[in-house]
Amino acid sequence: MQSKEPLILTRISLQCRECKKDFESAFKYVCDDCFGPLDVKYDLSAAVSKDTFAGREKTYWRYFELLPIEDKSNIVSIDAGMTPLTKAEKLGRQLGLKNLYIKNDSVNPTFSFKDRPAGVAVSKAKEFGMSAVGCASTGNLASATAAHAAKGGFACHIFAPSDIEMAKIAQALSYGANYIAVDGTYDDANRIAAQIGDSKGVGIVNINMRSYYVEGSKTLAYEVAEQLDWQVPDQLVVPVGSGAMLNAICKGFEELQSVSLLDDVSDMHMIAAQPHGCAPIVDAFKKNRTDVVPVENPDTVAKSLAIGDPGDGRYVLKRLEQYNGHAEESNNKEILDAIMLLAKTEGIFTEPAGGVSVAVLQKMAEQGKIDPDEKVVCYVTGNGLKTTESIMSVLQKPAVMNADIGEISAVVN
Ligand SMILES: *Cc1c(COP(=O)(O)O)cnc(C)c1O
Ligand SMILES: [Zn+2]
Repeated sequence: MQSKEPLILTRISLQCRECKKDFESAFKYVCDDCFGPLDVKYDLSAAVSKDTFAGREKTYWRYFELLPIEDKSNIVSIDAGMTPLTKAEKLGRQLGLKNLYIKNDSVNPTFSFKDRPAGVAVSKAKEFGMSAVGCASTGNLASATAAHAAKGGFACHIFAPSDIEMAKIAQALSYGANYIAVDGTYDDANRIAAQIGDSKGVGIVNINMRSYYVEGSKTLAYEVAEQLDWQVPDQLVVPVGSGAMLNAICKGFEELQSVSLLDDVSDMHMIAAQPHGCAPIVDAFKKNRTDVVPVENPDTVAKSLAIGDPGDGRYVLKRLEQYNGHAEESNNKEILDAIMLLAKTEGIFTEPAGGVSVAVLQKMAEQGKIDPDEKVVCYVTGNGLKTTESIMSVLQKPAVMNADIGEISAVVN
C-alpha cells in the first residue's frame, strides 16, 4: 500500500557557514555581514521516515522533502540519480577489502555525478523565475547544466577552459548550449562566469546558485545510506576538485542522522582524493595547514579535478578533521592504471576522476590504513567514454587485419 504523501515538510532558509546568521531563502549565496558562503537549512521537525522514500521514483528526487525546492512543479528532471551501489567483490579481493562498494555515478543521464547539483540548481532557477542559466565547468558540469537547461527551456551559457576533452565539448554543444572556451585555466573561466552571472542575471549553477547546487550532491550520501539499508559506512573515498561534493556528502549524512534515519555518523572516515599536479588540498592536509595555497597551473590527466583554487578547500580540511579523515594524491600513471583495474575487475569504465578515487583507495588499502572488514564506499563520479583520448595514451590501438580466418585465428589463443 502506498503511504500518504506528506503535506509540506520542508521550510528552507539560508545560513552563513561562518557566522551562522540566518537569511530567508533567496537568489543569494554570500553572507551580507562576513561574505561567508550560505548553506540551505531545513526545518526538519516534521519527521521523515524510511517509509517516506521507499517505493518512490528511482531518481534523487525521491528525497524531495530534503531538497530545496518548494513546489514540485518547478522540478526540472532528466531522471538522474539512484545509480548502482555495486558490491565490488573482485576488486575488493585484490585490495584485501571484504566490504568494498563502488557508487557508480558514471551512469547518470549525462554520465557524471554533476546531474545531481545541476538538476537542483536549474530547478531552483525555475522557482526563482529566471530565464538563463550557466556554469563554470571543468567539463562534466557543462553537459549536466546544458541538458537540464534544454529540458527546462532555459538559455545556457558555459564557461570552460579551452583544453578539455572533445567528447565533453561535443556533448554540451549537442544540448544547444552557448559554449565559451576560455583560453586560460578553470579559475579564469570561473572568474568570468561570476562577473557575467552578476551583470546579466544569469543563474550560474556553481557560483551564484551554489547554495542550492550543493544540495543536489548530498543525495550521494542519501542514496548510499538507503542502499546500505540505512547503515553508516566506515570509510568514504571522494574525488575532490572544488570540494563542494565532499562537503555536501558530509552534510547529507548529518541530515540523515538529524532525522533519525541513521545512527551516529561521527565515526565515518572521509578520504579526499586528488590528482598529482593539482592537489592543493592534499598538500595543505599533509602540511597541517588550515588554508589552501592555490595551484597556479594545474597539470593532470584528471581534468575534471583541475581546479587550482578550490572554492570549498578550507571546508574540506575542516571536514577531514571532523571525520577522522585523510587526503592522498595519485599521479597520471597510477590514475590510468586504476581506470583499467576497475574496468577489468568490476566492468566499470570510468574517467580519470574515478581513477583518482580508485588509485587512492588502493594506496590506503596497501598502506594498511583501511581495515579489511570495514564498510568502504568509493565514489566513481564520471564515465570513461568521455575521456577516451587519455586512456588510449597507454593502450595499443589494434592493428587492422585482413578478413582472413587463417591470419586471425593465429592471434586468438
Ligand atoms: C566536478 C567533478 C568532481 C569534483 O567535484 P567538486 O564538487 O568540484 O569537488 C569529481 N568527479 C567528477 C567526474 C567531476 O566532474
Ligand atoms: Zn556570515
